[in-house]
Amino acid sequence: MSVTQQQILDSLAKVATPRGVPLTKAGVLSEIAITDGKVYFSINVDAAEARAWESVRSDAEAAVRGTSGVKSALVALTAERQPGSAPAQRPGVAPVSAHRPAGAPGAGLPKQAGIPGVGAIIAVASGKGGVGKSTTALNLALGLRDLGLKVGLLDADIYGPSVPRLTGINEKPQLDDSRRMIPIARFGLSIMSIGFLVDEEAAMIWRGPMVMSAITQMLRDVDWGKLDVLVVDMPPGTGDAQLTLAQTVPLKGAVIVSTPQDLALIDARRGLAMFTKVNVPVIGIIENMSYFLCPECGTRSDVFGHGGARNEAERLGVPFLGEIPLHMEIRATSDAGRPVVESEPNGPHATIYRAIAGKVRDRINSLATN
Ligand code: ADP
Repeated sequence: MSVTQQQILDSLAKVATPRGVPLTKAGVLSEIAITDGKVYFSINVDAAEARAWESVRSDAEAAVRGTSGVKSALVALTAERQPGSAPAQRPGVAPVSAHRPAGAPGAGLPKQAGIPGVGAIIAVASGKGGVGKSTTALNLALGLRDLGLKVGLLDADIYGPSVPRLTGINEKPQLDDSRRMIPIARFGLSIMSIGFLVDEEAAMIWRGPMVMSAITQMLRDVDWGKLDVLVVDMPPGTGDAQLTLAQTVPLKGAVIVSTPQDLALIDARRGLAMFTKVNVPVIGIIENMSYFLCPECGTRSDVFGHGGARNEAERLGVPFLGEIPLHMEIRATSDAGRPVVESEPNGPHATIYRAIAGKVRDRINSLATN
């Protein structure tokens, strides 16, 4: 028999809260989404109270899991700051925003503390979907790995998590002793995706605050260990969810992926503007599907009027990181869960991704010293 809203509410009514009333009476619950026995919702409290509510979140999750008919439960804690209140920071961790010049555009926006043990968090973003952002994020992560760095990949593309497909991972993350999720180790990377936890369709129906809290949880309730770089595959586009994400995740910088077509470039410009608005430095632009390399004869053709992203980057004064050809090999390896940098480490594509990774690493280092 399928589980009902009322059954979930009955279970949650037994969970105590710091306000001295049961969870169902505290006025903090989001809509409860139930699909096929999988239950998702968030608890929304003020940032100042968040710490006191962490145990409520896990109690709520346990209560829902214990309800008959429930296959899995994901409860997120959303801490929303009231205007004018002090930013909530974890003790002993310097907020990344502390490195930003005071008075710069976007300074003063609430920025979360960095993640202990994680050197730099970088976003891979695109103004629209289908430009090869996820493929680029994964191969860039592998390129950084080849440079000797310890690298993690967080698939935050909540609307269409493709990292499970691109990596061939279909297992669920285990929990460590302190009930934090352990990322899946594959190709020498530590990988986490919302797609490991829920069905793609379930993620699609999530709404703004739930999306944010799920991503916050994947950043902070995951045992990332020591990483030099954490690559975040962002949701495509420049809507509110993306803006909030760019603003909330403690990003060192952002890489924008674009195809050469004008339209994609217009979208890419929006992406640039979004990061500038929240004062995240743009590491540079990558032109994907830049030119067509004939697999038979090796002849290169600029099917999409190649070079648009390079010109645009120059015009905007943003570094141009490189061009990746449109190639069957990249598509086939990606879609088979064996990314090209891993499956053909000595091939021409891996060389291109590694060269781009080198530029990204250098930019991260120069941003760290500024
Ligand atoms: P996005 O994350 O922007 O939606 P994906 O990375 O999922 O895009 O890529 C969309 C499709 O394009 C996938 O089938 C992928 O294999 C293919 N693809 C991405 N980059 C290239 C490329 N350089 N050459 C050929 N196919 C590519």
